[in-house]
Amino acid sequence: MLHIALHFLVPAALAVAISRDRWFGTWLILVATMLVDVDHLLADPVYDPARCSIGFHPLHTTPAIIAYGLVLVGPRALEAIGALRDRAVVRTLELVGLGLIVHMMLDGIDCLS
Ligand SMILES: [Zn+2]
Repeated sequence: MLHIALHFLVPAALAVAISRDRWFGTWLILVATMLVDVDHLLADPVYDPARCSIGFHPLHTTPAIIAYGLVLVGPRALEAIGALRDRAVVRTLELVGLGLIVHMMLDGIDCLS
């Protein structure tokens, strides 16, 4: 239960830290990345509190996490070379990447015990 709460509370704290003036929209984007847990539907049981998601579910594997890192840092790099000019798109993609990386870190906490 604490785990699920952290998936809402940590993004809330981040959203306030990143953009206090429009934290709610930022929080919504960060929380929307929880859709990555759709890969749990492939597992049996769908949810097992004792299971380490990292490396088990397809969207929680190393290649996927590397891709999330690229979504986090790639847009700004593309913006820097002029390949991506829409600031709102850059910001949204960065938040999606950030949300996914934070999600993986929070899931990773379960793997420590
Ligand atoms: Zn997850």
